[in-house]
Amino acid sequence: MYASTSQLPFNYESFEGRFVPSDGTAVPSDRKGRWFLVKDQHIFLLAEREGVERTPLGAIPAAFEGKVESIVYFGSYLDTPCWAGSVDADLATPAGFVCERLAPGQVQLSDDLLSLCGLAQQATYWEATSWHCPRCGQPTVYIKGERGKRCLRCKYDHYPHLHPAVIVLVRDGDRVLLTRKAFWAKGRYGLVAGFLDIGESLETAVRREIREEVGVEVRDIRYVGSQYWPFPSQIMIGFVATYAGGEIRVDHSELEDARWFPLAELPELPGRHSIARFILDHHGRLQGV
Ligand SMILES: [Zn+2]
Repeated sequence: MYASTSQLPFNYESFEGRFVPSDGTAVPSDRKGRWFLVKDQHIFLLAEREGVERTPLGAIPAAFEGKVESIVYFGSYLDTPCWAGSVDADLATPAGFVCERLAPGQVQLSDDLLSLCGLAQQATYWEATSWHCPRCGQPTVYIKGERGKRCLRCKYDHYPHLHPAVIVLVRDGDRVLLTRKAFWAKGRYGLVAGFLDIGESLETAVRREIREEVGVEVRDIRYVGSQYWPFPSQIMIGFVATYAGGEIRVDHSELEDARWFPLAELPELPGRHSIARFILDHHGRLQGV
């Protein structure tokens, strides 16, 4: 169990200084270092290594030469440059590599490796979605010293498109309200969550998501921490709230099920890497159990 949200994977603080993100100003002159070769939400790793050593070190591995796009320097890990790139979708897994799916909760990656892979995935996603201007379609260039891109024609500056989402545990005495999406692992339940809409405060978004998804009202909304979530680019903002009334009415366009669970009989919960699990571990357990 993580003691605080700063320890959760993908949050920079979780590295405790081992990783220094690129600020866009100093990019190594040669493309050598650790390689994070991403294909959609998968990553190619060396089969016979452990931890961060599972990423190839040195120049880009020969088997990937010419087959990687959106190559970007995204920081340094223990003083070694980290390079991310997007691999052609039709590339078969080269000998000596395995192709791992970056789905937290299912992967067996060390926390640092999982975080680095997620940040690499985010970096290549930003490269792939920012090479042209979203307003006039012309190619963009880096804004010196920043992560943003500028359109040389219409002068529009744009920055990584990060999407704030609220995630909330609803409590009522010795029971909690949990929800389930149809595509989740069998029997697994999680928390109410959703993206902010234009004009909403975080508290308004929490109330609206709960009302929309499960039809109940809450009070005493309290912030408990946040987690960066690079699949592809969310910031999850965690809350607990107290049930204030209403019967559960499940929005079946979003959820398969929602119900109250006694704290003593919780179902299978989200994986340990997620803030959903963190909130449940710290705010959804029987005291002293
Ligand atoms: Zn433009």
